[in-house]
Amino acid sequence: MSEIKYIFVTGGVTSSLGKGIIAASLAKLLQAQKFKVTIQKFDPYINVDPGTLNPYEHGECFVTDDGAETDLDLGHYERFLNVNTSQANNVTTGRVYQSVIEKERNGEFLGKTVQVIPHITNEIKQRMRLLGESGEYDIVITEIGGTVGDIESLPYIESVRQMIWDLGRENTLVIHLTLIPFLAASGELKTKPTQHSVKTLMESGISADIIVCRTEHELTEDLREKIALFCNVKREAVVQSIDVETIYDVPLKMSEEGLDRVVLEKLNLKPRQILNLDNWNKFLNRFKNPKNKIRIGLVGKYVELQDSYKSILESLIHAGAENETEIEVVSLHSEYIDLDNAEKNLNLLNGMIVAPGFGERGIEGKITAINYARRNNIPFFGICLGMQMAVIEYARNEVGLTDANSTEMEPDCKVPVIDLMESQKKIIKKGGTMRLGAWDCNLRAQTNAANAYSIKSISERHRHRYEFNNDYLDQIFDEDFVVAGTNPETGLVEIIEYKNHPWFVGVQFHPEYKSTVSNPHPLFKAFVKASLALKLNN
Ligand code: GLN
Repeated sequence: MSEIKYIFVTGGVTSSLGKGIIAASLAKLLQAQKFKVTIQKFDPYINVDPGTLNPYEHGECFVTDDGAETDLDLGHYERFLNVNTSQANNVTTGRVYQSVIEKERNGEFLGKTVQVIPHITNEIKQRMRLLGESGEYDIVITEIGGTVGDIESLPYIESVRQMIWDLGRENTLVIHLTLIPFLAASGELKTKPTQHSVKTLMESGISADIIVCRTEHELTEDLREKIALFCNVKREAVVQSIDVETIYDVPLKMSEEGLDRVVLEKLNLKPRQILNLDNWNKFLNRFKNPKNKIRIGLVGKYVELQDSYKSILESLIHAGAENETEIEVVSLHSEYIDLDNAEKNLNLLNGMIVAPGFGERGIEGKITAINYARRNNIPFFGICLGMQMAVIEYARNEVGLTDANSTEMEPDCKVPVIDLMESQKKIIKKGGTMRLGAWDCNLRAQTNAANAYSIKSISERHRHRYEFNNDYLDQIFDEDFVVAGTNPETGLVEIIEYKNHPWFVGVQFHPEYKSTVSNPHPLFKAFVKASLALKLNN
């Protein structure tokens, strides 16, 4: 059996250079040559998972089928590769320490002093090898979060050094991603920060095999040679990653630069088929040459930070390409929408998404926006909190339950149409305790949802504590407002629809976590199609 190969991706100079996209692009190129690849991310922060982080801190929290709350880079991995990730694909310092401390309490290190080296590093290494040892993959790409030289990254960098020593240089490879800044005043690209960060890596006993250089301008041949010489790599191992129009261009750019070729050579692997990116190119072609354009409003309270709704934005890109339609996303801050400005803000929309979220801020703005979309026949897609608010809006304005609310916003509410799930009532701890991951849902025939999926039973990912309160089933739902999907085991309402409308769908789950380039999500596709149809018919 051939050895499993391990590729490590580290970052230098600054954070936010897009290690996740580079890792996902490389994985895509290797997958397109018939290698089985997975990507995992190791994050140096002390939260056990990003589930307890505010989106302003760390962007969206991505959820896997097995209910892990993870870094948003896992979303990129799934969207690029069309392969599911799991709990094992994202490890944080918090999780590492938690399990080492648990082992210590269980007496597993009895008599010994428990230390960063070897105990923490052993735990990290064991987790770095876990997916490789499953036998499912030829190549495991490990992205190390943060920047080399950070105090909190040190145990990970040391673990990488030891992994190379344990497994041999022929089975391991280090890609270092850096920034080549452009000094406008002198009109020059500068390599010094890159030299320094490669040196910092070396101080930890790791020599980078490949340097990927983020840059706003083309690197000249001289510059590439200079980086190769000073950073101690071959000329072909200096790879330019220039700013591009879309992240989906990056695999093609990396292929032009020969990243996959250098990686395979270094790992002593031969391509198993000629690089086949036909489907990817088809998607890009449709994405870049749209025949129509629509404007979709995204109503949420974290709209200032693009990364907060990453998966929703990417799902719209996939669905837009599928419909050969460019989507202009108009971010609408729910806190600032009210009855006086609704018309001005919302009347130019061809479709509206009301985003997931937690807590009271911006809630009334969401309800006002939903009311506007419902009354004005604007295609509406409510996700998680967005669905809950659609129920409240209908209960208040059509059923006459003017006090309807969610107990999340108003704990003593008299008409709690949205209430804490029974299973949540005794839970006090906040970390990893929501209804998480994949749950089944049976669809009701002749609904927009059933039409979109064209199957009767689906599975979608969840992340919430509150639900539709079934005590109000008969009062709220009728032939106009229907339950279009239910969980077969618990009877929980999963999808609601308003019938007197071109397309009005609210889902308790998060469809955005399952949309990929090769498999755009059926509900996003249907929502975009309905929004486009409405625009063309007007
Ligand atoms: N805050 C709501 C709940 O916990 C919705 C969560 C969400 O939108 N992800 O049920």
